[in-house]
Amino acid sequence: MIRLPDHDALFPAIGLYVHFPFCAKKCSYCDFPSFAGQDDQMDAYLGALEREIAAAPRRHVRTVFLGGGTPSYVPGPWMERIMAAIHARFDLLPGAEVTMEANPGNERLHQNEEWRRYRAMGITRISMGVQSFDPAILQALGRIHSPGEALETVAAVQAAGFDSASIDLMYGLPGQSVETWRSTLQQAVALGLPHLSAYSLIVEPHTPFDALERQGKLKLPSEDQERGMAAVAEEVLGSAGYAQYEISNWAQPGFESRHNTVYWLNEPWLGLGSGSHSYYQRRRWANATTIKAYIEGGPTPMPEAPQDLTAELEETMFMGLRLTREGVTDARFRQRFGVGLLDVYGDRITKLGDLVTWENERLTLSKGGLPLGNEVFEEFLEPNLGPSTAPASA
Ligand code: SF4
Repeated sequence: MIRLPDHDALFPAIGLYVHFPFCAKKCSYCDFPSFAGQDDQMDAYLGALEREIAAAPRRHVRTVFLGGGTPSYVPGPWMERIMAAIHARFDLLPGAEVTMEANPGNERLHQNEEWRRYRAMGITRISMGVQSFDPAILQALGRIHSPGEALETVAAVQAAGFDSASIDLMYGLPGQSVETWRSTLQQAVALGLPHLSAYSLIVEPHTPFDALERQGKLKLPSEDQERGMAAVAEEVLGSAGYAQYEISNWAQPGFESRHNTVYWLNEPWLGLGSGSHSYYQRRRWANATTIKAYIEGGPTPMPEAPQDLTAELEETMFMGLRLTREGVTDARFRQRFGVGLLDVYGDRITKLGDLVTWENERLTLSKGGLPLGNEVFEEFLEPNLGPSTAPASA
């Protein structure tokens, strides 16, 4: 019989996401809640953020993610204040992972002292938006930096002693070929960073790329070429010693993103700042998206889809299967729901055949299932909650 243990008891330490919505310039593909030309709002925004942090539930925290937008665009003294507010409100566990996102194209970030200052604030990991080492592609994306500036920024991060650092790369881009993508991957590998993310472009509504696509002016690689690019990533990163531990993420052993793993394991986190999302005590909500609304009205959280048992089962499966090695284990599933994975999903797993692998009480996407992830995920919608799995509290 399914029983849902108290979330706070099940997850005594949570993740924390803190949003910085400022960017030097809006990129052509970006639909994140980030804004250029609103630096005059920074002071008021960060004050509102401090207030939201001070009013948040006091919890043990095992990961913090300072995301955006571009957190590295915020002057260092302000980041110090926000980090101090986080430390004052939450109990960060020893060894907590504290990641800050950064973007190249800011001369301040070429200096090692800037990065030493971030380390002194308690930031332990840097995630950089590099996207490509091809200047023409960077220009097409509307990025503000050259490949050389990205390299300088990475060098300064490394010189300041950040052992844990990652760069984001993109493929399936206008003007990109399999060979230019290979070259970007090879240059990325040469940096010797322990983590890399490789995302395929999705043209999001209401972005400049969306408008260009509608006008027939966005020349994207074919689906075949894109599949070829995914295969090249596997080949180049795999032979350089990185393991693909999530659909878009690669790491050397021990350097997987612990914060993003909170999302993939469908565990709770609090989101603070405009446009942030939260999943906490079995509720999901999102804060006001614009800087102005957040400053004037406070967080004003808006509830998202209802979080009933079905939603919790579905999310646990979709997100868990993104973890290509960890997958969804029967042990975690039992701890969370009080029944076995096969009790709820045995028939679906049989139906999926060789698209998934069930081995050592662990369900993962198979090599053949990996490119068909979305089709596999759909099978886990609307679980059959028969008499043996009926919720105890229903
Ligand atoms: S730097 Fe990042 S958040 Fe800012 S506009 Fe570009 S993609 Fe969006």
